[in-house]
Amino acid sequence: MKTQKDFQHSPENAFNESGENQVPLPVLAIVIPCYNEEEIIEDSHQRLAALLDDLIFRKEVNSGSFLLFVSDGSTDKTFSYIKANASCHVKGLRLSSNVGHQNALLAGMHYVTNKADCIVSIDADLQDDIGIIGEMLRLYRVGIRIVYGVRKMRHSDTYFKRFSAQIFYRMMRLMGVRLLYNHSDFRLVSNSVLTELRKYKEVNLFLRGIFPMMGFSSAEIYYDRLERTGGKTKYPLRKMIHLAVNGITSFSNAPLKLITWLGLVIFTISLIMSGWAILVIIRGRNIPGWASITLPIYLLGGVQLLALGILGEYISKIYLETKQRPNYHIEEMV
Ligand code: UDP
Ligand code: MG
Repeated sequence: MKTQKDFQHSPENAFNESGENQVPLPVLAIVIPCYNEEEIIEDSHQRLAALLDDLIFRKEVNSGSFLLFVSDGSTDKTFSYIKANASCHVKGLRLSSNVGHQNALLAGMHYVTNKADCIVSIDADLQDDIGIIGEMLRLYRVGIRIVYGVRKMRHSDTYFKRFSAQIFYRMMRLMGVRLLYNHSDFRLVSNSVLTELRKYKEVNLFLRGIFPMMGFSSAEIYYDRLERTGGKTKYPLRKMIHLAVNGITSFSNAPLKLITWLGLVIFTISLIMSGWAILVIIRGRNIPGWASITLPIYLLGGVQLLALGILGEYISKIYLETKQRPNYHIEEMV
């Protein structure tokens, strides 16, 4: 039979240190992707460290719990700060180049798999309310495997950001992708979910779509999203569009079907128009002018280019998937 000692290094079986009533305390890992966050990293680190200390003190998590900062190819002092503050509670990964928030998060999640019992992912700017992490843990303890943090309102975001986000969620819903409205990547997942996540070999991994699809027991906690405390958003319009297109094309082939339908509709309309044109000729009247000839040329040209573009998106996905290149490279660990 295994003794308590045998279990000690296995996170799923970490015990209350005092050994009293043998209540297993979960090891918590908080994963924080950071890209050029030198203005706020110190503040974020201190607030998260204080939270972790408090959770450990209140015996809600195991004393082996830790923060994992993933520097996503930062070119400023972000990683040197992490390195200078590394300890048993603060770990850091330095990726060799900027691979984007989703891949940086994935790097962190892969790293902590089997090193913790539950994992919380959160943005470095702490716009998401760290006060609900305690509640997430309570839900984890009653057996919930994924706890989503969901924003109540988006007052702190610009009007444009709110508007574009709304269009994105609507489009995803329309195309049959199960996405949680107003949930970004602030969530708790259990280690068992992360081990299952390893089975997804796709290069274009859209985490916000994958987790709801996996079907584990889940819950949502609502919170108010705060302002960024410093620095600028690292999600300019270009990256947002990329994330949206990636999300849609990784989960749905509805755009491809749309092309077929669009083609069919235009074909039917042009058949009707041809019939009408023949009728006009038979009646001996002139075909009405320029507009009716040139406009359809532009229209069809546009539609064809759009269709080719959409096809191209999917072909580029297939291209990337067949190469199976890694999503990130870890240059340094502290
Ligand atoms: N981030 C990253 N790589 C990138 C862009 C962003 O790791 O290429 C990180 C960033 O440091 C932050 C999180 O992703 O911790 C979310 O970015 P941000 O707060 O700028 O996005 P927003 O809240 O404006 O959507
Ligand atoms: Mg932010």
